[in-house]
Amino acid sequence: MNMRSIVITPSRPGSLRYEDIPRPSPAPGEVLVKIVEAGVCRTDIEIYEGLYGEAPAGSGFLVMGHEALGRLENGDLVVPMVRRSCGACESCLSGEPDMCFTGNFVERGIKGLHGMFCEYIAESPRYLVPLPGDARAYGVLAEPMSIVAKAVRQAEMMSRRVPRSPERALVLGAGPIGLLATMVFRLLGLETVTVARRPASSAKAKIVEACGGGYVSTGEVPVPSLAEKAGLFDLILEATGDAGAAFDCLTASAVNGIVCFTSVTGGSGRRTIDPDRVNRELVLGNRTIFGTVNANRGDFETGLSYLKRIDLAYPGLLQKLFTSRVPFEKALSVFPDQAEEIKTIIELA
Ligand SMILES: [Zn+2]
Ligand SMILES: [Zn+2]
Repeated sequence: MNMRSIVITPSRPGSLRYEDIPRPSPAPGEVLVKIVEAGVCRTDIEIYEGLYGEAPAGSGFLVMGHEALGRLENGDLVVPMVRRSCGACESCLSGEPDMCFTGNFVERGIKGLHGMFCEYIAESPRYLVPLPGDARAYGVLAEPMSIVAKAVRQAEMMSRRVPRSPERALVLGAGPIGLLATMVFRLLGLETVTVARRPASSAKAKIVEACGGGYVSTGEVPVPSLAEKAGLFDLILEATGDAGAAFDCLTASAVNGIVCFTSVTGGSGRRTIDPDRVNRELVLGNRTIFGTVNANRGDFETGLSYLKRIDLAYPGLLQKLFTSRVPFEKALSVFPDQAEEIKTIIELA
């Protein structure tokens, strides 16, 4: 039996297409997951543009999609995880393939493993995170939220360097990661300012304000002037996709501050940074910059608990992230331009 899927030939821009592929049959120990809906993110756009992505060994194409909500045959909801263990390194063997040492991991819909813009996947329960039924409305956000949960967990580890918890947080960027991080920081009681390009009257600014965050448009306050206008921040999470903004924000980091980079940036080489300035700021202020990618099972679970708490604390707010929903038959039309969207959802069932 065949099923439809959305595939790309990696490194070939414009090769996005529908492809009929065999419906997977679960191997021993695997279960069949019917994909209900899937999210589109910036990584997908980069794969579409041919900048990223790797087909599974022996395949000429990659089924895209790494953010999905699925249903088991018994009706239970699940979220499939993205990265698979390399099977060899200490991190992978202890259940943290997000911290893989070898790089020999595969990732659904991204690197070496077919993704979830399709009707069914076969998967080991080891890589399926169960969802309560009441999480149906926001469960597809579990993957992006797992990224935020990991960033927060690692920032908490680093904040133990000093006997005082962070009080003020800055979020750079108001895409899905930036907005989810804003909500989590507010949930955790941090005074939060979110900075992005859109004007202060935009829908994104309203989402920030609805959970008690402050919104600053870079049209009014450029990132290098942030400290002057908005003060210093103990914790900064960067999610803009702009490496220039990432380094410019260091001047807004407080003494003993923690800065987390979550964007994979394109590498245009348009900007230069002053290495002496960065070095001085890091050393003299005991500042830490760390990068984070992907997430482990515990982060998915923490992410789901954050989503539940946000849904209770700010009813309806998570739904505002879903700016567009398209049926599977129309899904090719959402590529590549997602500039006006926060989160586009492809509906399969
Ligand atoms: Zn994503
Ligand atoms: Zn590994």
